[in-house]
This record gives sequence, structure tokens and C-alpha cells, in this order.
Amino acid sequence: MKPSPLPFQAPQFDRIQDSDFLPALEAGMKAHLAEVAKVAANPAAPTFENTLVALERSGAELTRVKKVFFHLTAANTNPGLQKIQEEVAPKLAAHDDEIYLNARLFQRIKAIHDQRAHLKLGPEGQELVERYYQTFVHAGAELSAADQTKLRALNQEESKLTTEFRNRLLAATKDGALVLDHEADLKGLSKGEIEAAAAAAKARGLEGKFVLALQNTTQQPALASLEDRAVRERLFKASVDRASLGNADDTRAIDLRLAQVRAQKAALFGCKDFATYAMYDQMAKTPEAAEKLMTSLVPAATAKARAEAAKMQALIDQQKGGFQLAPWDWQYYAEQVRKAEYDLDEAQIKPYFELDRVLQDGVFYAAHQLYGLTFKERKDIPVYQPDVRVFEVFDADRKPLALFYADYFKRDNKSGGAWMDSFVDQSGLLKTKPAVYNVCNFSKPAPGQPALLSFDDVTTMFHEFGHALHGMLSNVKYPLLAGTNVPRDFVEFPSQFNENWALQPQVFAHYAKDYRTGKPMPDALVQKIRKARTFNQGYALTEYLASALLDMAWHTLPATEQVKDVQAFEDQALKGFHLDLSQVPPRYHTPYFAHIWTGDYAAGYYAYLWSEVLDHDAYAWFKAHGDLTRANGDRFRRMILSRGSTEDMAKLYRAFRGADPSVEPLEVARGLKDAPDGK
Ligand SMILES: [Zn+2]
Repeated sequence: MKPSPLPFQAPQFDRIQDSDFLPALEAGMKAHLAEVAKVAANPAAPTFENTLVALERSGAELTRVKKVFFHLTAANTNPGLQKIQEEVAPKLAAHDDEIYLNARLFQRIKAIHDQRAHLKLGPEGQELVERYYQTFVHAGAELSAADQTKLRALNQEESKLTTEFRNRLLAATKDGALVLDHEADLKGLSKGEIEAAAAAAKARGLEGKFVLALQNTTQQPALASLEDRAVRERLFKASVDRASLGNADDTRAIDLRLAQVRAQKAALFGCKDFATYAMYDQMAKTPEAAEKLMTSLVPAATAKARAEAAKMQALIDQQKGGFQLAPWDWQYYAEQVRKAEYDLDEAQIKPYFELDRVLQDGVFYAAHQLYGLTFKERKDIPVYQPDVRVFEVFDADRKPLALFYADYFKRDNKSGGAWMDSFVDQSGLLKTKPAVYNVCNFSKPAPGQPALLSFDDVTTMFHEFGHALHGMLSNVKYPLLAGTNVPRDFVEFPSQFNENWALQPQVFAHYAKDYRTGKPMPDALVQKIRKARTFNQGYALTEYLASALLDMAWHTLPATEQVKDVQAFEDQALKGFHLDLSQVPPRYHTPYFAHIWTGDYAAGYYAYLWSEVLDHDAYAWFKAHGDLTRANGDRFRRMILSRGSTEDMAKLYRAFRGADPSVEPLEVARGLKDAPDGK
């Protein structure tokens, strides 16, 4: 609960024990409520300083404990922590309600909001007033007492359901791992991958067998190389059937109830559906705007996916396969088409992407070129798991800027996917510097082997580091507006933008070197990777649009409608959007779509695409202005990365770009359209 005496207030993982969390969370909530009660009961007339700034300073203990606790429950959990999480989640939901439904506090905030035009607060102060006011209204401050009671009950239920979903999905994913008896079943995988599968089996007490753990998404990486079609089908089915097997880990009843709870919540606010209620503070503003962008891309995306499927079917027929392309064949034949058309072999490129070299000579190097940052590994900062590494980040003037934690390898007690968050946020008011982390799920090599990444993994590393930069380069006063505390449909912009540097010639040449010889990647191979970028984009965009529009379908249900069957609802929704391609299933099916059921992505999965429009458009600006230069980096840092959400996002972007974003650079990057200059 106390501020850590370590540099950057780094959490003292060497001293924190699991049994500390529950008492610390409870004491943190209590202290926070006492502080808030004091602000609300202040006899002095409400001012910006005695109300909003006081609120910004409140809850420091709780924030500190929560940030460490929820990091561990996601990245390094155990049954003890899960139990605490189940117990504490509804208490935290009730805690938030205590604050947001505090009538006296809201009256003070409303009074300040009413006077805001005359308060001479400056843009950041104005934004803080607006955010507090909107957040309170949105949390129910203006509802009747009876409706507030209903809202509290719905919030309680939602928080219980999301925790239950998370735990069931983790168990379902672990249990869904494919266990194979014979090494021959794994034919097609590399020696290292087979060793890793044997090690995974051993870790589960299945010595002599082979375990392929499930990744988050519908498609599984091993499907690209497994030669035995029956094994592919088993792995694919294990993936799509997870959390819907009718056992204790089935999430479908939870999904149905969550959709209903959210619709009922929206109805209390007079909104027609949850998406309308949830998107008020987003850059897109309405579900209609998000759907318009997505549906506009459906025809081109599905046409490209169908052409990709036809090419693979021709290959199957040519090989006298005698079967129709199924979704479990897609990655396998896509890989063959890729080899044939682009002559690109994953096994051939992986030796050039050794993890540490990609990190230091690629990810860190790009940040040095653009923003002048330098990095130094700190072995003295305690970590929660031995694979985790810590780096101190220095600004261009050599002053300490931030702490960066990297936790890259997959573990059974880690949630799937990749993400960034912080232990400490930057704030001028609280005089704190950021301590941020990246978590990924890269395959851990067998002992003594180098960690070799696919180009997808490399891209993920740049992506998550883009979020990290957004957190580390934050330069604002109020913690509520700092770093990555921006709308969901903007938050993926800095991360997706940072992916561009992975293939930028100067950066790529600096990191992509053979780990055995140090030799750079031959130019012909680089050109192949570059050319292959638009490969399979029909599939990638279609599976994404299917999931993002499913999210909208679930969250635009009116409160009066009760869905009975998850699968039937999905089928109908996909058909309605013309996304019912049997060979291209959604990236996530409803029962394991964690983004929308547990995270902040309910009615927000479209945000990746919305942000991607910004990312390609901003990169087009960089290319038109000299590409990788400190001047361009500093401008981007000054106008975007350092600004948090201190201004309306559309305005912020327009100021940087000199225009509203155009969707064309995205269409070109995805291979849906030729570049206007024919390149
Ligand atoms: Zn991201």
C-alpha cells in the first residue's frame, strides 16, 4: 500500500505475498472512500481545486494495489489469486458505485461543470471537468434512486459474470490443449516445436506424449505446418469447441446473461442499446459510425478471401487431394501458396528474428531514432517471475524517463494474447514517472535454444511497445488523462502505428540478422517478406470483421430481446453482414471472445480497425515528410504520444495531420486497392 522506495516506485515483488492482497485491497477501498467522503462533505463552495484535483489525488493506495494485483491475475495467476479476484471483483464494482452514485459529490462536480466557461482552466483543466461530469452522468449520477438501485445490482452481476467468464475460459483453454501420443502426429513441425510440445506434456505430467497448447484465436499457429490433415482437424476443433462443451467450463450461459445485463443497463439511461450507451466518449461516437466503416470494407475483404480460397483449392486439386478446403486447412495451404508465390518459408526467416536482437536492435533502436530514447537493463529491480526483464528508459537528454518490464513467454497461468499496462502512471500533479509493462505469449524455446520469432511475433512486439511508448512519453498533469487513458478506438493507434517500423528498411536492416552468423537478411528474402505483407489479408480482415460485427450484434440488442441460442444468433448475425464464409470463421467465436465479455472491448472490438485507419494515415504523413527522423518523431511525440486524452481525439489528430484521416492508406496496405501512385 505504501509507495515503493525503489526507483520509479517499482513494485517490491520480492516482498509482496499473495495473502497481502485481500487486506490491502479492502484497506485501500476504505481509505479511498474516506477521502472521497471528505471531498463531498467539504463545507467550502465547490472549486476545481477542492473537488476535482482532490479527487485526482485520492485513492492512491487502492490504485497501487489494484495495478499489481490485476497484473498478476492476468500474467501470472494461481488458484489463490483467482479466489481473491472472485471475492473482490463485486466489491470493487460496489466501490465504484459508492463514488459515482454519491449525490453530494455529483452536485459539486455539476456546479463546477456549470461554471466551466468562466473558470479559466486551460484546455487540460477543461477536459478534466468534462470527463468527470460525463463519467458521473454515465455511471448513473442523474438517475432516480430506484433506478440507481437497479443499476448497482446490474453492475454487481456484471462483475461476477465477467470474473466467472475469465476463469472458465482459462480452464477451457488449458484443458482444450491437444494431447498427441506419437511424434509422427506432429509431422511438419520443427524440431524445436516438437521439443517444446514434449516439454509441455512433461510439465503436465504426461511424459512421453506431446501437448499443443491453445492460443487465444480460432486459428492456431501449428495449423500452418501440421501435415496430418486429421490432426489439423482435431486441433482446430479443440480450438473452436473450447468453452462450449457443455461442461463446467462452458461460457455460453454467461455470454447470454451478460448481453442482457448490459442491454438492461443501457435501458436505464434511455439508450436503445449497450453500444449506444458505451460509445459516447469514443472517437467514433456511435455504433452506426463504426458499423459504417466496417461494412464498407466487407465486399472487398470477402472478395479477396474468396480469391485466396480458390487459389488454395486449385492447389489441393492439383495435388489430387480430393477434398474441399476446410477452415483447418486454410493456414496449411496458405503457407504452401505463400511458399510457391513468394517462395517464403517461416523456417527460413525465423533465424533472423532472435528475440533479444529484435528487442534491442529493432524495437529499442526505432525508439532511439525517433524519440532519442536509450535503454539499460536493470537486474536489481525485483520481478514476479524469472523470465521477466526490466529496462530503465532514458530520455534524449539522458534523464531517467520510465521503467519498462518485458514478459514475453507463454505460460499456462498467463491469459492468452498480448497486452500493455502500467504499474505507475505518469502525472505532473502526483510527480510520478511511468512504470509500464508488455506481456506476450511467444513460445518459450527448449532450454539452451534461442527464442526465434515469426514475423507476426516481431510485429506483436513492435505493437505492444507502441502502447508502452504511449505510456512512457506521456507528459500531462492529471492521472485521469495520462498516457493510454484514451478512448478505445484511439488507444490502438500508437501501437499499430509503431508496427510500421518493423519493416522500415533502416530499422529492419539493423535488427534482422542471422543469430548464428550475425549476417543481415539477404535482400531477396527481405523483398519477399515485404511482398508477402498483403498475402492472406482477405482472410485476416474477414475474420476480424466477423468478430467485430458480432461484438456489435451482441451489444446492439434491445433490452426486450432475449437470445436463447448463442450459435444460432452468431450464424444469423454473420449471414446478415454477408460474413458467413464457411472457410473463414470469426477470429473469436462468442464463447471465447474474451475481449468483449471481460475486457474493455464490449462494443469496442471495432476499435482496432478505427485506429488502423489513423495508423496508416499517420504513417503516410511520415513517409511524405522524410520517414524515420528525429524531427518527425519529436513532432509525433509532442502532438500525439505525450498528450494522453487532454483534448478531443479527432481535434488532436487533425492538428497533427493537417486533415481528417483517410481510409485509403489502409486499403492500400491491406492490398484491397492499388496505391494512387501505382506503387
Ligand atoms: Zn494493442
